[in-house]
Amino acid sequence: MTPGDLLQNAFGYGLFTGGLGLHLGAERLGCTVVPISGGNTERQLKIMRDFRASVLSCTPSYAMYLADAARDRGLRPEDIPLRVGFHGAEPWTNELRAQIEAGLGAHALDIYGLSEMGGPGVAYECLCKAGMHINEDHYLAEVIDPHSLRPLPHGEVGELVFTTLSREAQPLIRYRTRDLCALIAEPCACGRTSLRMTKPIGRSDDMLIIRGVNVFPSQIEEVLMSIPAIEPHYQIVVDRKGYLDVIEVWVEVGEDIFAETMGDLERFQKGVQAQIYNVLNIQAAVKLKEPRTIQRSEGKAVRVIDKRTAL
Ligand SMILES: [Zn+2]
Repeated sequence: MTPGDLLQNAFGYGLFTGGLGLHLGAERLGCTVVPISGGNTERQLKIMRDFRASVLSCTPSYAMYLADAARDRGLRPEDIPLRVGFHGAEPWTNELRAQIEAGLGAHALDIYGLSEMGGPGVAYECLCKAGMHINEDHYLAEVIDPHSLRPLPHGEVGELVFTTLSREAQPLIRYRTRDLCALIAEPCACGRTSLRMTKPIGRSDDMLIIRGVNVFPSQIEEVLMSIPAIEPHYQIVVDRKGYLDVIEVWVEVGEDIFAETMGDLERFQKGVQAQIYNVLNIQAAVKLKEPRTIQRSEGKAVRVIDKRTAL
């Protein structure tokens, strides 16, 4: 992205740093920004062509969704003016990259950031697509063993840890991101000599990333445990339909509740969904299960089933 580019920023605005964070950074670079935020696919495609957007920023799953929507409307990649897309906030693979690039006719590059470090712009891919260049003038990166907490040599996978070098309001020293990746010290083919990081391959805690939103199973548990009719047995099932993450929450309810009418059951189920939405800000489908139907475990309960491994 260079001065004069037109960025269509389809990251959510509001408290999510992807929206305003990228917006302000792009303006600082001398780019024009269309603050379109997420959703409204019809309008995204229209504005992209009417304004001749050269850069798109959004989650990779939404980029793929836009590519499919464009194809369904008879648009060819050459009808789409984009030159490059910056996609992040959720894990994605090189296979998905190839599909986005074919669909939108633009380079699809990975970006990495976290709210605690100022949001987007901590690290980004260049056109070599061989790891993300870390902005080392602002962040000191280390990879540690998450158990012993000792720093690991470059090239070994461990937990990514950052120290801020230029932040004044909220400096952080050796902040543990919980993201697992490796650091690459060799200079990049693009000529830049900065340290690079591989795509995070997972998390060192139980946090889930659902459509770019950080979700802790404990948040869902808190909601469920506040509802008396719900038994302390539940499972969270995460899957990917098309390119979008979907989350189901299976909850076991007491005998009494199945004596209610279908209408009452549906109202109860909708009520639980609304309470989860209030806390997480994402739609989860709640499935009511009869007593003793959710598998019990001897040791650590299997609370989360993540079927997205095939990404
Ligand atoms: Zn490079």
